[in-house]
Amino acid sequence: MTGWDRVVMVDWSGGNDAGPTPKKDAIWIGETGQEPVYCRNRTVAEGWLAERMDAALQAGERLLIGFDFPFAYPAGFAQAMTGSDDPLALWSWLEPQVQDAPKANNRFDLAASFNARFPGNGPFWGNGLKRDIPHLPRTKQGYANPFPDHRLCETKAKGSFPCWQLSGAGAVGSQVLMGLPVLERLRRRFAGHISVWPFEALTTPIAFVEIWPGLINPVVRAATGRGDIRDAVQVSLLANALSALAPARLAAMLEVTAPVEGWILGLGFEKDLLDAVSLKPPPLRNDCFALPPGVDWTPVDEALAMLEERLTCVTGSETVPLRDAMGRVLAEDAIAQRANPPLPNTAVDGYGFAFASIAEGDVILPLTEGRSAAGVPFDGSVPPGQALRVLTGAALPEGVDTVVLDEDCTVSGGQVAFRGGLKPGANTRKAGEDMAQGAVALQAGRLLTPADLALAASVGLSTLTVREKLKVAVLSTGDEVIEPGTQAAPGQIFDANRPMLLAMMARFGFEAIDMGRVPDDRATLARTLDAASQKADLILTSGGASAGDEDHVSALLRQAGAMQEWRIALKPGRPLALGLWQGKPVFGLPGNPVAAFVCTLIFARPAMGLLAGTGWSQPQGFDVPAAFSKRKKPGRREYLRARVRDGKAEVFKSEGSGRISGLSWGDGLVELDDGAREIGPGDPVRFIPYGSFGL
Ligand code: AMP
Ligand code: MG
Repeated sequence: MTGWDRVVMVDWSGGNDAGPTPKKDAIWIGETGQEPVYCRNRTVAEGWLAERMDAALQAGERLLIGFDFPFAYPAGFAQAMTGSDDPLALWSWLEPQVQDAPKANNRFDLAASFNARFPGNGPFWGNGLKRDIPHLPRTKQGYANPFPDHRLCETKAKGSFPCWQLSGAGAVGSQVLMGLPVLERLRRRFAGHISVWPFEALTTPIAFVEIWPGLINPVVRAATGRGDIRDAVQVSLLANALSALAPARLAAMLEVTAPVEGWILGLGFEKDLLDAVSLKPPPLRNDCFALPPGVDWTPVDEALAMLEERLTCVTGSETVPLRDAMGRVLAEDAIAQRANPPLPNTAVDGYGFAFASIAEGDVILPLTEGRSAAGVPFDGSVPPGQALRVLTGAALPEGVDTVVLDEDCTVSGGQVAFRGGLKPGANTRKAGEDMAQGAVALQAGRLLTPADLALAASVGLSTLTVREKLKVAVLSTGDEVIEPGTQAAPGQIFDANRPMLLAMMARFGFEAIDMGRVPDDRATLARTLDAASQKADLILTSGGASAGDEDHVSALLRQAGAMQEWRIALKPGRPLALGLWQGKPVFGLPGNPVAAFVCTLIFARPAMGLLAGTGWSQPQGFDVPAAFSKRKKPGRREYLRARVRDGKAEVFKSEGSGRISGLSWGDGLVELDDGAREIGPGDPVRFIPYGSFGL
């Protein structure tokens, strides 16, 4: 069995109860896509794990649980203590000897009693208690170890600690002594559902694996901010990394033979883990919005080509259950874990038989006792010259390759009769005819649809690795702009752009962040841009983007040395201000709502798609006869607010760019190319429905 639905990573602790406030060096549990969980002591952790496992079993999910302490001692120890090399025998032997209360336990005395069985002071050392304990040295002075200091895997894991050391920074000895009994109890409680890697075959829904966060140290260091608890960060990162790995790589990691000493999952695969966990792409280049010098009005296609070339994905990835994947961007190819259909089956209710066993002409076949139904297959074989009752979706039993439809049969006296002329394989579906196992079911960069989720489920995927949502901050500028619902003075207008743009972002599948309205005041605007760049991947402003006195967005960006005025040959549209503010792209849209709407659809959306991890998206339009006349001058591209009625494209009665009602009236845009056009009724024009833009 391969493939895990859930990955849970545990940073264990051998110490005493750490109190109610989350702190380091206690137990931390990380699950893919979830906030890390703090457990103040082992009893709490054991309870949490048992509940988590119950839930997984209930849900029919496969659960991979990692613990950051050795599952076995160096070769020879288990044999010396239990008479067997089997580490699980040692678990069973150890469990009843360990006393563990939240605030006290017997680990030092127990280790001393083990040491007493061997000459010299060893193998355990380190005493965290005030009182001296015979046989347990405080330091390695006078220490003698009858066993190897390290397991084979530890000699390869640079920086890992041997399991004999019971106290001091980084010591794992206490974690092993205090951890194995918990695992042993869980193993007993969930007997038949848990396998322990690499000692048992992973045929159960739950697997315990040994992990060591040291393998992903560089990313953990980079990801741990001031005030973050490293233990919490690393279990989450490791869970995410294991979930994000290609299943084949994880399967390769699990392919280990180490029946006596065990192994650290991922050892030798550090690069895979680091790659999987640091999917965060590099930031945008500083000059990504630079325009060639001397450019006046840039044609739409050229402007788009520049964006396409320079922008890259800026979002990280995460693994989510299918139910949360709708509308998200697939971060990596989704591979079919299982063929669909998994087995050849019947497409209809009817009678199945071997085609080779019937003669030409009308057919009468004796019926085999029994039937094959969907999910309840017939487990025998159907002899040649006989037929079996089969129901839609049922696996074809051995001896059946063709099915005759109920409606074409007469059944009586244990026989079925039907006319000849059936084709071999009639009314059946081949295994994998929809999707073969191992095939790419969905390609990276896809914006996931309900149909995609059905496909993913059908090939055995319960989670998908998707891009984190692109976070888009939206703000409006202009002294005249006020909040709808407030008292308006003459000359003031209500902010129409913000609700529109926030809603458009949500429709595109982005996380829209409302940064409110900003007056025409540079200090306030700068502060708001600062805050927006902290919160978002991209900032969308409207208003103030031209080169006038009150065009503060462009002025500020220019001041910061990060602004380009994109004058695009487009109607409706005004110059766009494009730039980077503290490394985050800013799209300064025109204030005019119609222009803001069109510029968002034509420019901002494809650009944002690239930032969000989709490929370059081109809206699908189609030609329909015009229901209008228009004469268009050459030199720029035009978009008209339009709708299709009776198969013809109607356009809004006014092209006035202040007419918001026309946006709402329309179902889409008519696109008129850069050249001159003379359009009469019935002439084909290109209509692009709002839906094609993702609205
Ligand atoms: P601007 O690009 O700032 O010169 O604004 C162009 C036009 O759009 C002006 O008439 C503004 O009043 C109007 N406008 C700017 N922002 C908004 C907004 N958020 N909602 C509605 N109209 C706006
Ligand atoms: Mg303005």
